[in-house]
Amino acid sequence: MPTIGVLALQGDVREHLHSLTATGAKALAVRRPEELDTVDALVIPGGESTTMWKLADAFDLLQPLRLRIKEGMPAYGSCAGMIMLADRIEGGIEGQQTIGGIDMTVRRNAFGRQVDSFEADIDFAGRGRRRAVFIRAPWVEAVGSGVEVLAVAEPGDRIVAVRQGSLLATSFHPELTVDIGVHSYFAEMVRAS
Ligand code: GLN
Repeated sequence: MPTIGVLALQGDVREHLHSLTATGAKALAVRRPEELDTVDALVIPGGESTTMWKLADAFDLLQPLRLRIKEGMPAYGSCAGMIMLADRIEGGIEGQQTIGGIDMTVRRNAFGRQVDSFEADIDFAGRGRRRAVFIRAPWVEAVGSGVEVLAVAEPGDRIVAVRQGSLLATSFHPELTVDIGVHSYFAEMVRAS
């Protein structure tokens, strides 16, 4: 049974812990570099990417996180977590940094101007349609050749879920629904890694 951490600086940590536990994984909150050393994989929750970046920096977690991801630790980011896993962002605040790892450009608050939050039925990874909750969500503007697109959403078939090797990211928040399909998909990735 893999141990999957949830980065617990800010955001909907509890909901991710709950969904991960429901997949049969052992889940625990990660706040300090020593805690990061104890997990096989990491979830980066939804919340606010600017705050998460500042806290990761203040808690000396940014470099350890980058290192673990470079070494191949599986990671899954939802919403703000997707922004944290992007190599490039659009619409960030002055100087905003990410952990990076996925060769993609993510636009913050991309759906925001039309609708702040909404729900949609999307097909995730060819596993059938599921309800997705979007809250001031980013979308993926561009991906490199090594990135697999797992889901798109209206308007305009925007990319909302991607995978690159052992890294997974969604614009939406499966942790806010009872559906554990995306967490199960990630737990499978972790077991296979
Ligand atoms: N708009 C937020 C950000 O830029 C993300 C929103 C969310 O995680 N629900 O970090």
